[in-house]
Amino acid sequence: MTSDLNLRLDPATAYTPLRLTAHVSTLLNIAANRLRDVVILKRSIDARQRQVMVNLSVRAYIDEPAPEHPLFTPVRYSSVGSDAPQCIVVGAGPAGLFAALRLIESGIRPIVLERGKDVDSRRIDMAAIARKGVVDPDSNYCFGEGGAGAYSDGKLYTRSKKRGPVDKILTIFHQHGAQEDILIDAHPHIGTDRLPEVIKAIRHTIEECGGEVRFSSKVTGLTINNGTVTGVETENGEIFTGPVILATGHSARDVYRMLLDQGVTLTPKGIAVGVRLEHPQHTIDCVRYHNPNGRGKYLPPAEYTMLTRVDGRAVYSFCMCPGGIIIPAASAPGEMVVNGMSPSNRGSRWANSGMVVEVLPEDVDGFSDSADPLKMMSFQQSIESRFFHDAKETQTAPAQRMADFVNSRPSRDLPSTSYAPGIYPARIDHLLPDFIVSRLKKAFTEFGKKNKGFLTNEAVLIGDETRTSSPVRINRDSETLQSESIHGLFPCGEGAGYAGGIVSAAIDGERCAEAVATYLKIS
Ligand SMILES: Cc1cc2nc3c(=O)[nH]c(=O)nc-3n(C[C@H](O)[C@H](O)[C@H](O)COP(=O)(O)OP(=O)(O)OC[C@H]3O[C@@H](n4cnc5c(N)ncnc54)[C@H](O)[C@@H]3O)c2cc1C
Repeated sequence: MTSDLNLRLDPATAYTPLRLTAHVSTLLNIAANRLRDVVILKRSIDARQRQVMVNLSVRAYIDEPAPEHPLFTPVRYSSVGSDAPQCIVVGAGPAGLFAALRLIESGIRPIVLERGKDVDSRRIDMAAIARKGVVDPDSNYCFGEGGAGAYSDGKLYTRSKKRGPVDKILTIFHQHGAQEDILIDAHPHIGTDRLPEVIKAIRHTIEECGGEVRFSSKVTGLTINNGTVTGVETENGEIFTGPVILATGHSARDVYRMLLDQGVTLTPKGIAVGVRLEHPQHTIDCVRYHNPNGRGKYLPPAEYTMLTRVDGRAVYSFCMCPGGIIIPAASAPGEMVVNGMSPSNRGSRWANSGMVVEVLPEDVDGFSDSADPLKMMSFQQSIESRFFHDAKETQTAPAQRMADFVNSRPSRDLPSTSYAPGIYPARIDHLLPDFIVSRLKKAFTEFGKKNKGFLTNEAVLIGDETRTSSPVRINRDSETLQSESIHGLFPCGEGAGYAGGIVSAAIDGERCAEAVATYLKIS
């Protein structure tokens, strides 16, 4: 017999299995030895009031044990033969990898082409960015197996309202090695220390089921016959045939240029630009949990989401990483751009988030030819280049204390930081365009009023943050998901402008694979 309960508990009871079991057996008024298992189905923290509470949905198993997988049904993959129809997937980020898995489910053989290296070899090139300031344009925090999602926080929440696809994506991550908590938590995350193993396991599934994953295979052109894409060509001169799912992420600027040259329709897309803001994690714990002593023994490192509108544009926190670190996210030489990630235990001393201002195509009209589809990309590049030159062409990042920024003052010194290449005092308020600086200042003041202790000189702004989303949309038909201008090409994921994070990119990968099955008349 089972009984489902919704509970609102103090953190000590919610996070201690023995106390939780005792609490449930008392509530159900049954002897402790009859309660065989208590399985948590959903968990969220409510920190709105002074007393922080944890909301749990649990299933109690009375006189019977819980089944082997009480929280999910594994997705099973059958092999596809070498004579199966094939599809080319460009990019091994979440969109490309989940597209490949879904193609296998449909009996189509995926050939995944990835410009970067496997997820382990990538590490050496990422370390070189921090140590020597050298950025390999094919292997960095954005490029390589796992894409931009590999060395990230691995936050898996999404604004997608379609629970079915979200649950399937979480299940696939879990059955490839991600911790069970991701199926339970309202704000699930995997952590940068665990993601590489999960990504490798996904690659093994693709290969074991008859698909191929090829590294160091940069796609440099589409093969087009009579207005239909029939394959791709790589930098090494190899040609692969089949319909093409293009999942190259938001940083592949050479891909956008190649598409434009080959007559594919692109439109400029709104982005968000600002800085990474770094506080001591303890400060955020005090602010969010309303406790001068911090988070205590049971609660996880606190997170925050902030959002306001200033002078007609949204200003918001982006990709908040509790217990995380700031990383150099440039994907080519000559760029300076930062981002954030955290390990599964979110155990660093710092909390960081992007603090960004919405920038619409009309905001940069004076900047370049207003009809240029790549104008938002050029705007991003101009900011990244300005920061890079201020940093004397290194990856050491410009930084300014938070209250100094709001009060237009230089910072004489800086707090310690998680950013490995280092930071130096700079005028972020002079480096960013005025329309971004003025909005950030007003937003920080408002956030500080609503969250006592948030606006502080203990916190530091590190710049710049520009890679919040794709600056370009690759127009596609909403029914067939093919490029509006050319058949056989399926623009996919974040780089095409149809996703904004790991889960939404994975969902879009699945959708594109289904569209390819329809195109090949398989379903
Ligand atoms: C540091 C960092 C932290 C992040 N943290 C989170 C987070 O916690 N949660 C979250 O939801 N999102 C996070 N994101 C965003 C998230 O990673 C992206 O939204 C997601 O990875 C997009 O998936 P994608 O598959 O569309 O593209 P990508 O992940 O960018 O993958 C694109 C792939 O295509 C490859 N490629 C590019 N050009 C070519 C070519 N010409 N030929 C062959 N291959 C090519 C690239 O090498 C790359 O592997 C983070 C991003 C970064 C950079």
